[in-house]
Amino acid sequence: GCTRGCRFCQPGMLTRPARDVDPDAVVETVLTGLQATGFNEFSLLSLSCSDYLSLPAVGVQLHNALAADTVSLSLPSQRVDRFNDELAGIIGGARKPSLTFAPEAGTQRLRDVINKGLTNADLLNGIKTAHEHGWDMVKLYFMIGLPTETDEDVLGIAETIGWLQRECRAQGRRRFEVHVTISNFTPKPHTPFQWHTVTAAELRHKHNLLKTAFRRLKGVKINFTDIRVSALEDVLTRAGRDMSRAILRVWELGVARHDPWFAPDAFFGLWDQVLGEFDYSWDVVGPPIDSPLPWDFIDTGIEKQWLVDDYAKALAEAIVPDCSFDSCSHCGICGEDFGANVVLAPRAVPQLETPSGPPVQPKQRLRVVFAKRSEMRFIGHLDLQRLWERACRRASLVLAYSNGFHPMPRISTATALALGMESDGEIVDFELAEPVPVADFRARLQSQLPHGVDLCQVEEIPLKSPAAAQALVAAEYRITLQASQVTDWHSALKTVLASESLPVERTSKKSGKTHTLDCRSWLFELELLEVGETEATFQYAGACRNDGTVLRPDDLVQVFQAATAQEVSLANVYRLGLRLATLCE
Ligand code: SF4
Ligand code: SF4
Repeated sequence: GCTRGCRFCQPGMLTRPARDVDPDAVVETVLTGLQATGFNEFSLLSLSCSDYLSLPAVGVQLHNALAADTVSLSLPSQRVDRFNDELAGIIGGARKPSLTFAPEAGTQRLRDVINKGLTNADLLNGIKTAHEHGWDMVKLYFMIGLPTETDEDVLGIAETIGWLQRECRAQGRRRFEVHVTISNFTPKPHTPFQWHTVTAAELRHKHNLLKTAFRRLKGVKINFTDIRVSALEDVLTRAGRDMSRAILRVWELGVARHDPWFAPDAFFGLWDQVLGEFDYSWDVVGPPIDSPLPWDFIDTGIEKQWLVDDYAKALAEAIVPDCSFDSCSHCGICGEDFGANVVLAPRAVPQLETPSGPPVQPKQRLRVVFAKRSEMRFIGHLDLQRLWERACRRASLVLAYSNGFHPMPRISTATALALGMESDGEIVDFELAEPVPVADFRARLQSQLPHGVDLCQVEEIPLKSPAAAQALVAAEYRITLQASQVTDWHSALKTVLASESLPVERTSKKSGKTHTLDCRSWLFELELLEVGETEATFQYAGACRNDGTVLRPDDLVQVFQAATAQEVSLANVYRLGLRLATLCE
């Protein structure tokens, strides 16, 4: 629960009171979760996680516990006033995640109206800390259309960003980029701002002001929320149960088939039609403060009169303190026993250990032949890489990593398998930083693999031996070909094997140009396994080298098309295995 009391924020009202989790439980959950999943990143989530006073202690404890791994910690959008050296030191790991702050308003006056409790000095301190700790870019969220907002407040957003950039650049002379998201205010039920409204025309005016002001700033990327999206949110948010008829109607017309981001005209066109049919206006008028609201019957624990009073305080630019750390404003949540917030005292922050980083020295190399079958054939190459890494982490097998800014586990496959194809003999090499007996490795890794990935053979190879990708020379396939008419497959096979050249056409993915290649020297073995009238199953071994010399199953289709003088298609393909140079010699 967050008790900061930002007046536009619904979770900040609905989740009260604050209930801190015991720091030991947080650390244990993260470490157990990483071991059980093998994931290499995690995030500590809560509404305002930097208000969790033990965050620096928990973060440092986790950072130290994971110092020898490539696990990264990220935090969601944070309170910039709590961002300090300790937090900056623990975020990230192998990779520095992006940093997001939400000042929400561009002037101090407006930040007081929304009860953000943030000063310019807080903002500068937090951003400077991020810059000093190596972040060259931060993301900032602002909102426009807030109560009492003037043009000066809107332009204050651009001025604040320009000022922050100047201060940071003067300090470090490094580049400093800001990615800004401007969202439009939409009222949320059960918040003090539920009575406030802003029209689409006003929002358009504010967007234009900002677009002009941002033209003068360099190193700023700006992203505006579509006004139509906000207007629709506004209409739906304020509506009562009568809106259900319009929602049903727009669904019947097929709105779900159009995405508001990719097909906005179709999407909003349908909403426009339906809102018109039911006499709704896009520009909703804020309800009178003393009228009943459609959601009044829902008891959130917060008294409506408190919301009315807090809205009045907003208009008077008066702030209300955070009841987790200051006095209670009697919102009604805690009943008569005010102060039900559970805020744990901060833990002492342990000494931050310099991350040793993952081990880079391989001590053992293992070559694995594995099968990839059934549903696992739909796992792509990159996902398979991640699968190996996670399975090794779950099996407590310590991999060696590459050097560099983004260390990668030393897992290398001989070649990728086409998506959707099954195989009995793929090859992957693992380099371990902590050697284990081969049988042990096989049993531990297999126990962590999903159904469909089976280890067929594991052998230890010298650390210096060439990578499987370099040694790869051939692949064996079983293919089933389908002809358009009854075919003499035996004589077609003889023709192919007797041919001195086997021309095939290839089309370049990049240029779209087609060229002809002779693949005769790439076909090493070809035999007929099963024969039917129009269908035949062959097994072949063909070139498969990472310099691009590859005889593909599709090439065999062309070869047999030429040999049979009829339409031939590939009915089935299965990779039987790969051959490395040492095995061929
Ligand atoms: S800090 Fe403000 S915006 Fe963030 S969760 Fe709390 S009340 Fe909401
Ligand atoms: S009743 Fe008081 S202490 Fe409890 S959540 Fe509301 S303001 Fe905070």
